Amino acid sequence: MELITNNHVQFSRLRRLRSKKKVRVLFQETEIKLSDLILPIFVEEDLNHMAPISTMPGIFRIPEKLLSYEIEKYVKSGICSIIVFGISHHLDNEGSNTWNSNSIISRALRICKNVAPEIVLISDMCFCAYTTHGHCGVLDKKNVNNDQTILNLERQAIILASSGADFLAPSASMDGQVQAIRFALDRSGFYETGIISYSTKFKSALYGPFREATYSNLTENRSTYQINPMNRREAIRESLIDVEEGADALIVKPASNFLDIIRDIRERVYLPLIGYQVSGEYSMIKFASKAGAIEEKKIIRESLGSIKRAGADAIITYFALEVAKNSLL
Ligand SMILES: [Zn+2]
Repeated sequence: MELITNNHVQFSRLRRLRSKKKVRVLFQETEIKLSDLILPIFVEEDLNHMAPISTMPGIFRIPEKLLSYEIEKYVKSGICSIIVFGISHHLDNEGSNTWNSNSIISRALRICKNVAPEIVLISDMCFCAYTTHGHCGVLDKKNVNNDQTILNLERQAIILASSGADFLAPSASMDGQVQAIRFALDRSGFYETGIISYSTKFKSALYGPFREATYSNLTENRSTYQINPMNRREAIRESLIDVEEGADALIVKPASNFLDIIRDIRERVYLPLIGYQVSGEYSMIKFASKAGAIEEKKIIRESLGSIKRAGADAIITYFALEVAKNSLL
């Protein structure tokens, strides 16, 4: 059959690159490694058993006394990095428990460091799981006070660094927070403690299950300090500002609905870039799979692949342990 065009330019036969498995593997453009994945964990004080989170099937709040066992399990599975969230039972208007060296987050970090000194230990730093109102800082009438919250972030940073965190991940979305934390760490001699900033954090509807996980008391919203999901230029500016302020790596959160933003930032900065596949992204996949609508193992790989393909170097994902245990990559 003659398929040559009139001017003798043959059309491209891309199927040559898909002809058999070894050819497809040879030319695969994006790879996901287990070492690219960062596992988020919730550690709750005064808890006696692994507490399931109903909106996040397969994810648990971990009691402090079982944390060592869990960490050993992660290391054996091949997990390289974790990000720790503390769930405190000591709440107040400011979240002052976060700058107490005996708070749940500090104790959890010390346990992690002791059990697995080689693991990359990242501490989330915020106040929303430690305040009675659920906001990410000091509430001043109805507004979160940016500069007062930054002073508290500086205090928190010193405590978390001294508890063994390799990296601090400020998620409070206060203007100027990265620079303030960097100065505070340096003033106290924590030159080696890095900052992985949630530099572009949207006010997304995908955080619902996380709020169940952390017993969030938030009744209003965070639209005065998180980014409007409709804004692209503002989202890029937020990350560029954090580069200037001294961040060591950046996070775009959430990931799946904002792959264009990951690409935009990738093209503009040379820092490591992380996509956070958040609780709602996890839960949508879990519940759709349970309903038989999609094939879970394949969609996990595809969703992680899309975040890397967009330009992320690493991914914070609740699927990390499942991927490790079942060799899903
Ligand atoms: Zn927060």
